[in-house]
Amino acid sequence: MKILVLNAGSSSQKSCLYDLKDALPDLPPEPVWEAMVDWTHHQGFASVKVKTLHGKTLQTEIEATSRPQVITYMLETLWNGEDAVIKHPSEIDLVGHRVVHGGAIYRQSIIINAEVKAAIAQLADFAPVHNPANLEGITTAEKIFGDIPQIAVFDTAFHAHLPPAAYTYAIPTKYTNQGIRRYGFHGISHQYCRDRAAQILNHPIADLRLITCHLGNGCSLAAIRNGQSIDTTMGFTPLEGLVMGSRSGSIDAGILIHLLRQPDMDINKLDHILNSESGLLGISEISGDMRSIFQAIAEGNPQAQLAFDVYVHSLRSHIGSMLASLGGLDVLVFTAGVGENSAAVRATACEGFEFLGLKIDLEKNNQRMLDVDIAAADSSVRILVIHTQEDWEIARECWNLQ
Ligand code: AMP
Repeated sequence: MKILVLNAGSSSQKSCLYDLKDALPDLPPEPVWEAMVDWTHHQGFASVKVKTLHGKTLQTEIEATSRPQVITYMLETLWNGEDAVIKHPSEIDLVGHRVVHGGAIYRQSIIINAEVKAAIAQLADFAPVHNPANLEGITTAEKIFGDIPQIAVFDTAFHAHLPPAAYTYAIPTKYTNQGIRRYGFHGISHQYCRDRAAQILNHPIADLRLITCHLGNGCSLAAIRNGQSIDTTMGFTPLEGLVMGSRSGSIDAGILIHLLRQPDMDINKLDHILNSESGLLGISEISGDMRSIFQAIAEGNPQAQLAFDVYVHSLRSHIGSMLASLGGLDVLVFTAGVGENSAAVRATACEGFEFLGLKIDLEKNNQRMLDVDIAAADSSVRILVIHTQEDWEIARECWNLQ
């Protein structure tokens, strides 16, 4: 079965093709084809990178007029040219889409029909950048592949079981009745890490209390008990919670009121400040990329040091909050760009929890290995570094639904 996965970002589009035989493999297989389009570098143009299992790579830049045009170009490399991996689009059996916002309606993945598309469009109110992009992916795939099943896998669905105390904001009910509540995001990644952690530890998921730390450009935590997310740090939008690369995370809402009263401020500017000019970038005034922060710290830059300290302070305090929701901890998981690569972030975050009997093995932590346990043998909590595989999780959801 050939499953195509489409994963849309605000100004990027990733896609990959899995070719599965009779059963789902235990470990994520290599995709036979992977593509990535990014239109942040050069106004009006998109850079396209394609890699096939046979090691062929294509890198080119095309004029980009619209997302559907770019997606079409990207997908045509599946069957056109010397690096083609299939002969004809009709060989694709299923298309899985990462859809950022499923609101309170979609608690699990679903086969897309007209009603689902209308709901995704309506939920663009809550995710104005991502849901329209996801919808464009869906309609473009419909045009190319015709009447094959397409499946929406929601980033919010994994958090659909949060209890009311965890998802309700303390604002007047007439606003919560408008759908303003905690939804949580990165659910596809948190779900993958839950399953992979149980697999690595060879332990039933239902018996584990986990905190999964997705630390990438965007950062969020999930508290998982009985296999379900019972608390998470992102909220109504992906702006809440941890300090991130360029997002502020949780700040006093009074700051927004204060800033909005300033004469040169407007809503779009405030949106940009909080989502794109804050976090590590805002404090350091250097970069939102943790690698640049470390480099600046090594050069003695005090603002970079402060950015790191604030990042870790926020991470520890939110881990503490997830811990309280869980009432204990068996497994702490680090994943995504920072979580998988930064031994310093992992070690410093863990320092706050030694009182629990949580002990990191510093040698293992420094070994740059993935899908491993880096806890000391006598630690009361296992500490895992897991390479998140969101595209594979989407493909698994498609397989399980077909
Ligand atoms: P993601 O959103 O999961 O792709 O993560 C991207 C982020 O991971 C980058 O912005 C960096 O901050 C971080 N990252 C990637 N590689 C490293 C590394 N070797 N050390 C520290 N941070 C890294």
